[in-house]
Amino acid sequence: MPKRVAFHTLGCKLNYAETATIGRAFSERGFEVVDFTEVSDVVLVNTCSVTENADREARKLVRQALRRSPEAYVIVVGCYAQLRPEQLASIEGVDLVLGSQEKFRLFDHVSTFDKGAYARVVVGDIGEADDFGPAFAAEAGDRTRSFLKVQDGCDYTCSFCTIPLARGASRSQDLDATVAQAADIVARGFKEIVLSGVNVGDYGAKSGRSLVELLGALLAVPGDFRIRISSIEPNLLTDDIIRLAADSEKLCPHFHIPLQSGSGDVLKRMRRRYNTGLFTDRIDTVLRFLPECGLGIDVIVGFPGETDALFDETYRYLVDLPFSYLHVFSYSERPETHALSLDGSVPHPERARRSGMLRILSEKKRAAFARASLGQTRRVLFETGGEGELSTGFTDNYIRVGMPRDASLDNTLRDVLLTGVDGIHVRGIGAVSA
Ligand code: SF4
Repeated sequence: MPKRVAFHTLGCKLNYAETATIGRAFSERGFEVVDFTEVSDVVLVNTCSVTENADREARKLVRQALRRSPEAYVIVVGCYAQLRPEQLASIEGVDLVLGSQEKFRLFDHVSTFDKGAYARVVVGDIGEADDFGPAFAAEAGDRTRSFLKVQDGCDYTCSFCTIPLARGASRSQDLDATVAQAADIVARGFKEIVLSGVNVGDYGAKSGRSLVELLGALLAVPGDFRIRISSIEPNLLTDDIIRLAADSEKLCPHFHIPLQSGSGDVLKRMRRRYNTGLFTDRIDTVLRFLPECGLGIDVIVGFPGETDALFDETYRYLVDLPFSYLHVFSYSERPETHALSLDGSVPHPERARRSGMLRILSEKKRAAFARASLGQTRRVLFETGGEGELSTGFTDNYIRVGMPRDASLDNTLRDVLLTGVDGIHVRGIGAVSA
């Protein structure tokens, strides 16, 4: 009987892509991949460390897995494993903790998967990390969207962020290798490739390449598919990228852009590389070329020094900004970050209150964007399986669409007329072209 391995991933799309790649390596070695809720012989948890809560969640998942499969060989990888390996190794039953580079060579570090008395920790100096570790993943076992890792690490020094400590310096996958991988993904039947990384806009910066060059090469890959950029820093969202999206049917008119704060003072304390003037200019330029573009924005509330007045500045800035949704995060103290030394800590209940205010604003903007789309015909990628009575998918500009269930729509790109708003979905009719 083959050995069984179960995976659980926390955090970003990059982690999902990397877990999927590790999963394929296990399958190639004869392992059967089972659901995380099942008993298995090997358990691997790929962790995140973006908040204290993510650390807690990782420890909880490891303990849960050990209760379910006390004999399983337990491996922990990911950002938390790189940053705090000792905390994970001290959980009784953990066998191996691998750092951010070591996880790409997992089978060099373990072969027999025999449980030992103590955890082994193999975590190198992240300052020396230069391996890329190519990866791609399907979304939740679906064959619709694939997250393709094109870049890893970050050279920025945002004062709240622990990612450069966990993932090292910015590095990118070779352009030809990335294009070949994209062609392979399209050949496997995926209809959307989401370009993923820690700082995707920094793609190729150290090798004289650029994201716009990569996009141009990817758009030339033949096939019925489209490309989405997972997220891009405002200072790296160039006019060339925006123009390319306006000129190409394959590059989705959807940008997810981290703002983090609408207050210039807070942005300085965060050590971000732009001010609100630049941000507004980028949004204006996007909408000039792509008036129906989906625009998602990340915001952090409760950063040290964010007074009531400065939060108010952010709120008022966002009320006036034409975007389609927000991702709101409450600031979380992270060890070894510069922000820890800043004064003006915001009490947790106040962080929650500010977060709640922005979530309500986000829902209003999302609903307004959906209403404004009514009467438009947009390209929808329908997901496999749908949701209950509905076939569901996203438009190119990231509106969630639902239509009466029709299995023949699964994993196809169709032009859909948007006719009404139904809860979280926009209703569509007439999936006209295959
Ligand atoms: S750009 Fe800033 S927030 Fe984003 S990964 Fe780099 S350091 Fe972290």
